[in-house]
Amino acid sequence: MINQTTLMLRTGEQYIEGIRERRHAKIYVMGKRVTDVTTNLFLKPSVLSFKATFDAAFQEDTRDLARTFSPFINEEVNRFVHIHQGPHDLAAKVKLLRRLSHKTGTCIQRCVGWDALNTLYIITGKMAERGDGVYRERFLKYLEYVQRRDLALAGAMTDAKGVRTLRPSEQPNPDAYVRVVEERDDGIVVSGAKANITGIAAVDEVIVLPTRAMTEQDAAYAVSFAVPLDTPGVVVVVGRQINDARRMEGGDIDGVPYMAHHEGLIIFNNVFVPWDRVFLYKDRRWTGPLVEIFASFHRQGYGGCKTGLGDVIIGAAYELAKTIGVDNKPNVVDKLAEMVFLNESMYSAGLAASWEGSKLLKEGGWWVNPMYANVTKHLVARFPYEISKLAHDIAGGIVGTAPSEFDLKNEEIRGLLEKYLQGVPEIPAEERLRLVRLLENVSVSVGFLIESVHGAGSPAAQKIMFNRLYDYEMSGEIAKALSRIKVTVKWPKAPEPRRPSESEKL
Ligand code: SF4
Repeated sequence: MINQTTLMLRTGEQYIEGIRERRHAKIYVMGKRVTDVTTNLFLKPSVLSFKATFDAAFQEDTRDLARTFSPFINEEVNRFVHIHQGPHDLAAKVKLLRRLSHKTGTCIQRCVGWDALNTLYIITGKMAERGDGVYRERFLKYLEYVQRRDLALAGAMTDAKGVRTLRPSEQPNPDAYVRVVEERDDGIVVSGAKANITGIAAVDEVIVLPTRAMTEQDAAYAVSFAVPLDTPGVVVVVGRQINDARRMEGGDIDGVPYMAHHEGLIIFNNVFVPWDRVFLYKDRRWTGPLVEIFASFHRQGYGGCKTGLGDVIIGAAYELAKTIGVDNKPNVVDKLAEMVFLNESMYSAGLAASWEGSKLLKEGGWWVNPMYANVTKHLVARFPYEISKLAHDIAGGIVGTAPSEFDLKNEEIRGLLEKYLQGVPEIPAEERLRLVRLLENVSVSVGFLIESVHGAGSPAAQKIMFNRLYDYEMSGEIAKALSRIKVTVKWPKAPEPRRPSESEKL
């Protein structure tokens, strides 16, 4: 049974204490079992990024954004466990992610579980509106449990997938998608794996969602549930990232002196899940809307977090231009302006997706505008590469060739390096090297590049949504009216030629 003991609004230190020791958690990094993720050199930067989401509720500049009132427990909660109560909450999410990216310089990681909570709130609410309230009741109890404990959650959606052309039930490996292998009186047993799961080793619990719309044959794969990370049978294998070994070098410039994130594979090896943690069970009708709702929530969030990283990169490029005295040169000013345009475009789309959000449930269930959320993510799949390229252009080849911090710390060559790395006399060589490393570590990171393309769905997934949501018939009518092919057109009330999404039609 879920225990509803009250804590609420944990500090960063309390979060760290909470994940320090987990009896059954099997977490592997580079072939070795990790028993304490908070001190492991590979995972510690990721833990610190999660910690920033808790600290934000207590820091002057973020407190108002990071705290909000939850009508579910009648208390203030951390926004990362909040159910959006209107467009203002959706916009606050984007703003909070932008600000936290400034403090972390990486992916914040905690947003995936937050989006999973909001998705299940809407889906179980829809089920209840259709007369099946059991999942709603369970979910609301789970939500209370999460909010009262201020838990760090991961959201696990992408399955291992096996042969991409085959449906889950057709796979030669039946566990290529997470599935129910046994139904018991007290719960279910699940098997399978979820891949590319953001922040998975540093969370208290993981919420599992189906990754695609399922058919009747795939009913055993239509399952959603939540388990603590140290549930017996759960195995986490953390993936590698560029420059990750630098974390183990003991330096404070070359590696990741600020924070980092990680992704990993989570394996469910015959894991038992009690019924009160199961939110979707073999009912494939909800899988399509669930995927659509979750994906749009996460695509909207990118308008905040990637813009925040864009600010870090623009700032680093600007400061590096100063180190060599070119910050006022017209070609640099022009490139900086282009970077600002690209960055603010992503943010504008994220805010539009928020302010144009709508209610999917009678009692609330606020969702983003799916068209603008998909536009946001599609911009994010392109613009960070442009921003990085412009920053590298401004900074110069040193981004790829700078000597190690250990060279700079070697007394035999320190003087020579200081002499030849320095640009304008007022800015010491070490400051230039620090900015170069910051730019390198953020602008060619998984968090700013690979994740921007593939996180929350690859670019093709957004194009599918554009074609589903855009009303070509309506724009065709507009063209025909203006070209006098047709004299009477039935104009819809909304100015945008848009069709309702699957979820909006429910
Ligand atoms: Fe959050 Fe952005 Fe990372 Fe997704 S990619 S978890 S929205 S910071």
